[in-house]
Amino acid sequence: MHFDLNNLIRQNIKDLQPYSSARSEFSGEARVFLDANENSFGSPIKNLSITETDYNRYPDPLQWDLKKKIATIKNTDAEKMLLGNGSDECIDLLFRAFCNPQKDNVIICPPTYGMYKVYANINDVEAKEVNLLLNFQLDIKSLEASIDENTKMIFLCSPNNPTGNSLDREDIEIILNNFDGIVVIDEAYINYSRHRSFLKELNEYPNLVVMQTFSKAWGLAALRLGVVFASAEIIEVLNKIKPPYNINQATQELAMLALDHLQQVNEMIKTTIREREFLENKLKQLSIVEKVYPSDTNFLLVKIKEATSVYNLLKTKGIIVRNRSNVVLCDDCLRITVGTKEENDVLIQILQNF
Ligand code: PMP
Repeated sequence: MHFDLNNLIRQNIKDLQPYSSARSEFSGEARVFLDANENSFGSPIKNLSITETDYNRYPDPLQWDLKKKIATIKNTDAEKMLLGNGSDECIDLLFRAFCNPQKDNVIICPPTYGMYKVYANINDVEAKEVNLLLNFQLDIKSLEASIDENTKMIFLCSPNNPTGNSLDREDIEIILNNFDGIVVIDEAYINYSRHRSFLKELNEYPNLVVMQTFSKAWGLAALRLGVVFASAEIIEVLNKIKPPYNINQATQELAMLALDHLQQVNEMIKTTIREREFLENKLKQLSIVEKVYPSDTNFLLVKIKEATSVYNLLKTKGIIVRNRSNVVLCDDCLRITVGTKEENDVLIQILQNF
């Protein structure tokens, strides 16, 4: 393998003069901020005294306090992280950094998270699809055959959405060791998994990008906070093109608060896994259920007779699940997020009467 980051970065991004925000041009302590055309008189929120801070100032564009706190928990360096407005923004930034529209391509492995393809399409980049095998593992031979000189990134989702399983570590290592482009491992559900994160492998593989999110185990989907972990060199490229203030002040503050409560998050993860096992057992007892796939996540992929009718029935009862029955390798499947005990009980009760 010969990984050369410089060959991967788009020429227009190399040449780009990045936006220099008023606040990024200043470091140190200051008392008077007359540099960013903010409202110097405050905001209506301040008078409501629901928060310590006011929001009339732009937030830290590089979110150092928050990154340092995450870095401590994840045992990595703040310089090797980029924060995005959800993982979704991170995916888009990767495309914009590395893929030339109408020329380059990426490889995705369906059935998988839909936004890789959407962002490929938005950026006018071909997404080559190499389906997972029937056991939902990577088809390494087909993957290798699909790589060409314009393949810039391979997206791997582990644990995978919507199948729920983790990809075999050895397969991922084969790709990391042999692919000259960037290997993105989306670990959105890693906190629910029995398998180890690839975070510890960052120093070993210059082509590795790991994505995580605060939307799942951390319970902060509404704040929109995703994290890219990668080499300082890759992060530098992404920093260059991200919108200057992509993580708002409220999100930075609330995420900092949340990080003080790791124990509570760990308890929620345990509860989720307990409920997942309960749900799995109950579902398996139903005659309409043909298969419940093993899960390393906070959801279950369930093969069910007349999936779409079941989906519609649930909808009439006010219960929304994800109908995946038209997705490749997921015929007759519903994807069901693990709910609270009460929610799971209601679901099972309705399904028992189908
Ligand atoms: N990756 C995967 C695998 C997901 O399932 C999701 C959300 N469903 C995301 C990324 C998006 O996460 P975020 O909320 O951080 O944009």
